[in-house]
Amino acid sequence: MPKVLGMRCRECGEEYPMNPIHVCELCFGPLEVLLDWELLEGKLTREKIEKGPKSMWRYWDLLPVEGPPTVGRNVGFTPLVKAERLGREFGLKNVYVKNDAVNHPTLSFKDRVVALALTKAREFGYETVACASTGNLANSVAAHAAEGGFHSYIFIPDNLEQGKVIGTLVYGANVLAVSGNYDEVNRLCAEAGDKYGWGFVNINLRPYYGDGSKTFGYEIAEQLGWKAPDHIVTPCAGGSLISKTYKGLNELNRLGLLENGGTEGIPTKMYAAQAKGCSPITTAIKEKYEIFRPQKPNTIAKSIAIGNPADGHIAIETVRKSGGWAEDVTDEEVVEGIRLLGRTEGIFTETAGGVTTAVFKKLAEQGHFGENETVVISITGNGLKTIEAVAGKLGSTVHIQPNLASLAEALQTEKLLATV
Ligand SMILES: *Cc1c(COP(=O)(O)O)cnc(C)c1O
Ligand SMILES: [Zn+2]
Repeated sequence: MPKVLGMRCRECGEEYPMNPIHVCELCFGPLEVLLDWELLEGKLTREKIEKGPKSMWRYWDLLPVEGPPTVGRNVGFTPLVKAERLGREFGLKNVYVKNDAVNHPTLSFKDRVVALALTKAREFGYETVACASTGNLANSVAAHAAEGGFHSYIFIPDNLEQGKVIGTLVYGANVLAVSGNYDEVNRLCAEAGDKYGWGFVNINLRPYYGDGSKTFGYEIAEQLGWKAPDHIVTPCAGGSLISKTYKGLNELNRLGLLENGGTEGIPTKMYAAQAKGCSPITTAIKEKYEIFRPQKPNTIAKSIAIGNPADGHIAIETVRKSGGWAEDVTDEEVVEGIRLLGRTEGIFTETAGGVTTAVFKKLAEQGHFGENETVVISITGNGLKTIEAVAGKLGSTVHIQPNLASLAEALQTEKLLATV
């Protein structure tokens, strides 16, 4: 039974059939997937979802595909970790980390959007897929293209971290390193998309790509015992994840699947996190601008360095509507954020996670979170991909000889005494 009615323009409401298109012909507004709510309401139950696979595909009924997943079948359902020690540092009792740093297979939340976009690309009949990426999308499109037997063209800025570049080349993808920032790469891709007719994950397939992020929100609620949390802190690049997480939670409420939902809506406040070196979304929220002002990125948080975010308006609207807020942090605070999450929770996140953890700290210190309220920190990528950011900033190893005398000597030094 078809559960998707088609596409609808977010701005003017014009409807379209389900095709690889992403902007409205009438007003150039972004297109969204239109689910058949009459078909879903009252029929999709918690029990049905809970019996599904331990992956994002347990929410198949709410995703815009017609058949079963053909690519990325094991993506998602990552741990929601109770962060007791991190919470205690700020006097908070219910802090959680949604840990997509261990998402299968490429260790970032991008595996969700790509699993959906490439399953959809196959349904549309594409044999070649492509993307513009700040790194994690490159890794994920290349990996899933390999799994699904697609040709792939991956466009990245030429200054990315080694882990992101090698973690793309290894899958045998065609990688094009463009001398320019992400916004320039993306503009080139929009032109290439028109010329070559590839399935561009974040351009003509963007409405499907975006819906993959809804599963981040579904999982948080299910893992909290079908409850929407009070607060979610999320890093923003293009602004899709934060908007779709919120959309996902509201869909569960619409279906009556939440313990704490209802006609009043969900209690969740959304908080945007960015680096000061690229903060068009958080600046617009903090300065109360009508529309964001594009920036030229300059930060170590490269995975979220998008100066002209495609879903920036929607992200800002989401934060405002939910009653949340936004903060941005310096590159120094990003490194401190990575170390804070590492030393309190044993989770090694990349620079985007450093941004999110540092922004969580800032918001906690500003008093946004109540002691017993539920706070979820969105950790979206893995630290092993951006070791450049922390190399040389973590203290050093203590060098010893392979004998007990040398060990005993080392243990006498002030540095190690505290630990014995
Ligand atoms: C892409 C990305 C984001 C943000 O994604 P948007 O949906 O574009 O806002 C956050 N964290 C990491 C690690 C990413 O790679
Ligand atoms: Zn329109």
